This record gives sequence, C-alpha cells and structure tokens, in this order.
Amino acid sequence: MSADRWVREEIRALHAYKVQSAAGMIKLDAMENPYRLPDDVRAELGRVLADVALNRYPEPHPEALRALLRRSMGVPEGAGLLLGNGSDEIIQCVALALARPGATLLSIEPSFVMFRMIAAFCRMDYVGVPLRADYSLDADSLLDTIARVGPAVTFIPCPNNPTGNLFDPEVLTRVIEATPGLVVIDEAYHAFSDATFMTRVGRYPNLAVMRTLSKLGLAGVRLGLLAGPADWIAEFDKVRLPYNINVLTQAAVQVVLGRPEVLAAQTRALVDERGRLYAALEAMGVQPYPSAANFILFKVVEASRVFDALKGRGILVKNLSGSHPLLSNCLRVTVGTREENEGFLAALNVSL
Ligand SMILES: *Cc1c(COP(=O)(O)O)cnc(C)c1O
Repeated sequence: MSADRWVREEIRALHAYKVQSAAGMIKLDAMENPYRLPDDVRAELGRVLADVALNRYPEPHPEALRALLRRSMGVPEGAGLLLGNGSDEIIQCVALALARPGATLLSIEPSFVMFRMIAAFCRMDYVGVPLRADYSLDADSLLDTIARVGPAVTFIPCPNNPTGNLFDPEVLTRVIEATPGLVVIDEAYHAFSDATFMTRVGRYPNLAVMRTLSKLGLAGVRLGLLAGPADWIAEFDKVRLPYNINVLTQAAVQVVLGRPEVLAAQTRALVDERGRLYAALEAMGVQPYPSAANFILFKVVEASRVFDALKGRGILVKNLSGSHPLLSNCLRVTVGTREENEGFLAALNVSL
C-alpha cells in the first residue's frame, strides 16, 4: 500500500531480475564456466585470501589490479579504465552520469535485458532497434534511429547475448562514426571469439569497450571493466561508489589472472565443446544458431514443453520463448563440461 504510493511507476512496472533455482541440477542457464580451478591455484587463493585485511576498506583505485587488467585485456596505452562490481554496475554508472531528462539509451533487440532495465532505474529513455531475422544488425534502421533520437549512449554486445553471433565490424564502425554520444561495445564473451574493438579504443572520441571476468570463469567475484576515452571515463568515475571492488575480489583476481594459462586452457576446452555441442544439436534436427560465445541458442518446436521436460530430467537451460518475437521457441544452453553436455544432449533427445 505505502510502497505503491511512493515508489515510481516505472519501477513498480518492472519485474525483478529472475534467477532460477538450480539446486541439484546440471546448471546450463547462466553462461558460467563449469570448471574448477586447479588445486595449486586454489591453495594459493587460500593463502592469499587468508591474509586479506577484512577490517579495512578496499583501495578505491587499486593500481596493481588495474595494471594487471590493462595488460591481460589489452587496454591501449592512454585509454581510461573504469572498474565495476560486474559490468552490470558499469552500465549503471554510465546511465547515472548521462541521465538528463529526455536522454536516450539505445540498444538492439533481442539482447541483454539489463540495458533496458538500467535505463528505467536511472530514468533514461530506452530505444531498442530490432535485429534482422538472421540476428544481424539492421544498419539502415540503426543509423536512422541514431539520427532521429541522438542517443547519449548506445550499447551493443558483440558477441550478442542471447543470439551468440558477432556483428559485422564495418556496420559497428558506421554506428560509432554516426553516433553523437558514446558507443559501448560490450565484449562480455570476448574470450570465446576472435574479434574485438579493444584495439580501436583511442581511435574514436566516443568508443568504449566493456569486458567482464564473469563468463571467463570468475562470475562469483564480480568484476567488470570499461576502457574508453579518458574524458568520458573520468566523469563515470565520479558516480562510481568509492569502494565498489571489495578486498576479496581484488585479491582473488590478482591470483587467478596471475596464472593466465589456467583460464586460457579452460576457454579453449569450452570452444571445443561448443563445436561438438553444435554438431550434435544439428544432427538431432533442432536448429542451432552459430555462436562465438560460451552458449548456443537453438530452436525447437515447442520450447516451453522441452524446457519443462529438460528440467524434469535435472537439466536447467534458459527458455527465451516469449521474450521477443525473434526468439519464439528458442532455448539457450550454456556450454558445460563434456559430461554436462552429454547429459544435456541425452535428456534433450528424449524431450523433443
Ligand atoms: C553476462 C553479461 C553481462 C554482465 O556481466 P557481469 O559482469 O557479470 O555483470 C554484460 N553484458 C552481457 C552481454 C552479458 O551477457
């Protein structure tokens, strides 16, 4: 009653971000890396984390961690760097800083739902430009919309979630050149693809590239980053809460990224598994879409029935049917370990 009276209508109209319960299930719904860290890395984490001063506030501008991230992510010399508690928080910092009345956050659809939600949190206008039926960018429609609304910021994930495909870099370049505001290429799945715009940061006054450690294998530690022009980054840094990267995250990331071969080997294994999973889905007669990420979108005849049948067999995937017209009867499966993928395929085979 009183929440109804005081909470903004646009917040009341939202549905809270839903996370499915996964107790006891093979969890293939959230693009997590399925592998454990090797025992020696776990032992080192134990030692390092035991020594972390939990009674002290974290360093607000952790230089050693920032230098490590610049090296491991290939951030160009001279670019600004913003760290966030996951890239979700970075999207929020950007929107908070840009949310003048009437300012627009533009993205594509179907894509990552947090762009629309965070626009609503921060009172930005939101515009989603539909992809074409083959999930490629509709260049004409994007450029028309950009000219019409003059977005303060445009977020484009590449590879895109939930469709898994990369976009034509030439179209992305035209978007950057035609946009008066900032363009953020969201490279959450960069580790599983060969493409990046990171090397072009600094070449345009309005290009930023966002990365996260989540899909790489550290979803639980919550660390994302935005590399971009120093003037934009300096402004976003002002709306970042001072201690957003906690002490355990700072320490754990330095241990794990200090052993780059570990996550690199896991990433290669997942890319191999993705190929096997794709071929098996195709052989089964469901329609998989090509993926440059650690998940595969596929189309079945009756997504809700198949989703429930998989769940009944202990396999959790994501049902996207109903979330966008281009996703009708689509399910999204995260690439897991060999055993998890075999379990999923066996269950799917008797669930169609
Ligand atoms: C998962 C995902 C993110 C969010 O990642 P966090 O760093 O865990 O907040 C951002 N963008 C896309 C496209 C994603 O799929």
